[in-house]
Amino acid sequence: MSTTATAQSIDENLDEGTESQELTDGFHLIIDALKLNDINTIYNVPGIPITDLGRYMQAEGLRVLSFRHEQHAGYAAAIAGYLTKKPGVCLTVSAPGFLNGLTALAHATTNCFPMILISGSSEREVVDLMQGDYEEMDQLAIAKPLCKAAYRVLHAEDIGTGIARAIRSAVSGRPGGVYLDLPAQLMGQTMDAAAGAKSLIKVIDPAPRQLPAPEAVDRALDVLKSAKRPLIILGKGAAYAQADDEIRALVEKSGIPYLPMSMAKGLLPDTHPQSAGPARSLALKESDAVMLIGARLNWLLSHGKGKAWGTQPKKFIQIDIEPKEMDSNLEIVAPLVGDIGSCVSALLAGMDGDWKAPPSEWTEAIKAKVETNVSRMAPRLQNNNVPMDFHGALGVLRTIIGERPDAILVNEGANTLDFARSIIDMSKPRKRLDVGTWGVMGIGMGQAIAAAVETGHPVLAIEGDSAFGFSGMEIETICRYKLPICVVVFNNGGIYRGTDVNPTGGDDVAPTVFVKDARYDKMMEAFGGKGYYATSPDELKQAVNEAMDSGKPALVNAVIDENAGTESGRIGNLNPQSVVAKK
Ligand code: ADP
Ligand code: MG
Repeated sequence: MSTTATAQSIDENLDEGTESQELTDGFHLIIDALKLNDINTIYNVPGIPITDLGRYMQAEGLRVLSFRHEQHAGYAAAIAGYLTKKPGVCLTVSAPGFLNGLTALAHATTNCFPMILISGSSEREVVDLMQGDYEEMDQLAIAKPLCKAAYRVLHAEDIGTGIARAIRSAVSGRPGGVYLDLPAQLMGQTMDAAAGAKSLIKVIDPAPRQLPAPEAVDRALDVLKSAKRPLIILGKGAAYAQADDEIRALVEKSGIPYLPMSMAKGLLPDTHPQSAGPARSLALKESDAVMLIGARLNWLLSHGKGKAWGTQPKKFIQIDIEPKEMDSNLEIVAPLVGDIGSCVSALLAGMDGDWKAPPSEWTEAIKAKVETNVSRMAPRLQNNNVPMDFHGALGVLRTIIGERPDAILVNEGANTLDFARSIIDMSKPRKRLDVGTWGVMGIGMGQAIAAAVETGHPVLAIEGDSAFGFSGMEIETICRYKLPICVVVFNNGGIYRGTDVNPTGGDDVAPTVFVKDARYDKMMEAFGGKGYYATSPDELKQAVNEAMDSGKPALVNAVIDENAGTESGRIGNLNPQSVVAKK
């Protein structure tokens, strides 16, 4: 007995002696691999089997931000990827936590944002025999259709490879979501520390430039040159590319009017003389050549067809890093495949010499329309109505964003989104974050948190009351990390509006209606943030300015007329119609 005990303690001492110098484990290899690749922020929800991983990450100097729900950690990681061009990392527990993170993973993939969802998982042997492990699920198989690539690491010596592949997959070519499956037993696996360090991979040039073919550049220039009414459309791919100077130079040198898609607003200031934003309908209908830069011809652009595009025949030029995007909805006469910075620089170089600005009839027609529409809107934005309507409230917020060009605007809702997108001018790139390609409700607090964390700039989140509800609990996260975020809830007491009634006269309210006079501001106070209650544009202005000046967590409950707004905002046409009359 005593001999055994002695042997054991000698053994332990020996182990201790070698462990600190010569052994590493899965936990630390994961951390070292991330740090080696300059990934220093983790958006997570702790739990089995990744609780200790988060603790060790923090101890090793990573910033580990814990959320209340994985979906919001995931949306945070996705938008962090968009803002930084590095994959945002979301870390979750197995099965349910993993599933909660998947919405964001799919969203990242759909929006072309680089993100890595890392989930702990159960024992392979048990999962594969379906023997009923704790949180058993074949996560790799489930993640695959929702992301660009999915990897699983079974051995500590492969952690470096797994993380390198995940990073490169997320950011190279068209960016997107990647899933990395880390079974629980991997983290505790040990290996020789020196061999472990050698097994790590630093990803060299993770998103290499992709130069366009010279003949493709010439083809695009020929189309632009022969156009009488050319138009440039900038999408969020252009904002993501961080080729801001080149894009601005191209637009200005070409003299061509441009339309920014929602998240491309501010790439050039919305007040730029070539902006066709307020003349969108005219620009789409009357143009005869359209150059898409990092924008897809998806539903957000009516697939390039139909009423919105008018009857004028058009030639399309498309700049995109993804060759398969070409011809997705109609013929692209001049596909320009490459990274946006390189493509735009090549076009610019090719414009030297005999480049002529588009005919002034066209540019003047657009300018005139812009002026008419802007001056028509102006008085509506100055109303001080009580209860507030969308224009009065947004008129005030428009001024505030104008005065604070570094602030980041997060925006979701239906009417709240549609009105804010067109009313609030942006003046710098990547300052407007919103619902993206799917029109997701629920991105709000996750995006706000990541925007504050990644940029250090103040954030103004303008939220419909329904949209806010999806991520509302994350205001505790905002308070916990003392982030400079001001949330404004446009509270009209319901989804779309607060006025629907139950046609049966029963006790339940209509499906789209919330509690009347809800006090979202008090939610914020519950966690130590500052709550404000605003019933007029003047009160709203004062509250938001005070909150933004303080740099502290705040929520302004902005009471909006429950009659204001329309069903589904501007996309009510997407609702199917019943042939049986509404009661
Ligand atoms: P929006 O919704 O603003 O119109 P989309 O998300 O539809 O924008 O389109 C973005 C496009 O940008 C995608 O087709 C994507 O492949 C492309 N893209 C993303 N990053 C780059 C890049 N660095 N270079 C070229 N194209 C890019
Ligand atoms: Mg509402």
